[in-house]
Amino acid sequence: MTSRTAAASATEQAFLAQCRAGLEAARAALAALLADPGPRTIATTLEPYNRVLVGAGNSGNLAGLMAEVHPDDVIRDAARVVEQEVSTFVSELMLNGELYAALAAVDLTGADAETARFAQHTLRDFRRAGVDRDPETRERLRAIDEELTRHGQQFSKTLAEDVRSITVTDPARLAGLPQDWIEAHPPGPDGAITITTDYPDYNPFMAYAQDDDLRRALYIATRSRGGLDNERLLHQILTLRAEKAKLLGYATWADYVTEDKMIRSGARAGEFIERVWQLATARATRDYAQLLAELRKHQPDATEVADWQKVWLETQIKKTQYQVDSERVREYFPYAEVLAGLLDITAALYDLQYVPARVDVWHPDVQAFDLVRRGEKLGRIYLDMHPRDGKYKHAAQFALHDGVLGQQLSEGVLVCNFPRPQGDNPGLMEHDDVVTMFHEFGHLMHHVLGGNHRWVRQSGVATEMDFVEAPSQMFEEWAWRHDTLARFARHWKTGEAIPTALVDDMRRADKFAVGTHTVQQMFYAALSLDFHTAEPRTLDQLAALRRLQAKYTPFAYVEGTRFHTSFGHLVGYSAMYYTYMWSLVIAKDLLSAYDSRGLMDPETAHRYRDAILAPGGTKDAADLVKDFLGREYQFEAFERYLAE
Ligand SMILES: [Zn+2]
Repeated sequence: MTSRTAAASATEQAFLAQCRAGLEAARAALAALLADPGPRTIATTLEPYNRVLVGAGNSGNLAGLMAEVHPDDVIRDAARVVEQEVSTFVSELMLNGELYAALAAVDLTGADAETARFAQHTLRDFRRAGVDRDPETRERLRAIDEELTRHGQQFSKTLAEDVRSITVTDPARLAGLPQDWIEAHPPGPDGAITITTDYPDYNPFMAYAQDDDLRRALYIATRSRGGLDNERLLHQILTLRAEKAKLLGYATWADYVTEDKMIRSGARAGEFIERVWQLATARATRDYAQLLAELRKHQPDATEVADWQKVWLETQIKKTQYQVDSERVREYFPYAEVLAGLLDITAALYDLQYVPARVDVWHPDVQAFDLVRRGEKLGRIYLDMHPRDGKYKHAAQFALHDGVLGQQLSEGVLVCNFPRPQGDNPGLMEHDDVVTMFHEFGHLMHHVLGGNHRWVRQSGVATEMDFVEAPSQMFEEWAWRHDTLARFARHWKTGEAIPTALVDDMRRADKFAVGTHTVQQMFYAALSLDFHTAEPRTLDQLAALRRLQAKYTPFAYVEGTRFHTSFGHLVGYSAMYYTYMWSLVIAKDLLSAYDSRGLMDPETAHRYRDAILAPGGTKDAADLVKDFLGREYQFEAFERYLAE
């Protein structure tokens, strides 16, 4: 027992030492920078500051990844400790007046454009944190940040623990649900079947259950989570954010948080939401009429579609009118062939080779590849693609190293939960999963191919937050076209390539209800913006939600619900829920460059690689888009997408 504990503790100590190495290098570089008597130059000040960021980033990246993927929970907990240490280090760094003075004194005479941009953005980051305010204000800002972190964690915790449920005693009321779902929900000792508000229960239930009353009950339970506790927390969060924005000289939190994004201001975010909503309204009206017509087949006297009926009606329409059978579709997507196809497509597009890397990994599932172009190593990727206990539940790209010219190559990690091939089972993927794999690879290519710059703050995806989803959303298209799918999507038994007609049907079905989905997204975006623009003292959260829902969506507010108290993005994204649609508008515009010569045209792909991916954050995203398209970004491609 004793020796085993000692061994575990030795592993943990070794991990902590490895994980903290970057942070220690950062502390040493910071101390040396501050001790330097000057004069302040790029070499004596900006370079060491870059090393501070690289060190802290390496520790933060490794800790952030291991907290989510390491198979040993002792290591996951140790990683969380380091994550907190890094976060404290960075927030103290940004309020360090001595460091700010040193950086502001740097002589930039003769600096190249990237260096000047790095210096300018660095000073802006410090000012946005409040470093140049008087000591009392700085202290208040520090206290606000601490309270905001605490309230945000409490909001998420309340939400995660507030699992609600409905019960059914008559199994006949589960009609419409897939057999495997029903088998996974046997009655308890009292004969009651429990259905919870968790996704694996909720999503299939809303899509398949025929029983309208039960869907309504589950919808209300789900949209009541968080409740008055979270409404009170939200009030405190919004009040603190408004105070912070005012202390820093902004009218609202929305203005503060959008200032360094592509959108630039709360007012412009509002105009964007309005514009997309207007573009989508005609289509939303048509979608709604189709949903109502479908509802009348089941309830002949229905006059409106309720929010809890929407997804079920969509499922009915996709099945009967578009004939897309997902059971058939997945037979063309065995995991290994999809991954091989994706590697083959990205290798061809971006002129790369994937060379298996012999390195230690955290779990036997993990594959590592070096990205090589004509003998030159560009970076490394890790693929951790199948579920296991204690692992992250969603799909995401994690940075392990941010590439810095001459110091370290970019390393990125895909963490996903795709079916695992085992024995005779090829691990057939849902097409949604295939799209997710392409989406996350869009982030991975951006991170690795954009990571060869002098200043780490310009590496890879370190671009404006409202541009980050554009490369990934654009790359989803490669999973939706027959010419790209046919390169790898073959029936796992017969070897037959995926039929063109099937891909056409899949695309048509996917486009159904794009109007109602888009206006729903604009309702959420307007809610996130409105809550951060309004005066917190007088904001009636529920009244605002009802007003915005009535304005943006054709689906009426359902009495008894409080959607905002379970809207986790209000904590993480604050006023910026619009970013998803903003990135999508730009993604559709970027995609239009491939229209004339196809998705696999090497010349277009190389231009995209060199103009959008490789520059990382060395230029404003708007300028990158302009370099690639030869013009400013515009809405036309997105309008066509909504119309077609
Ligand atoms: Zn993404």
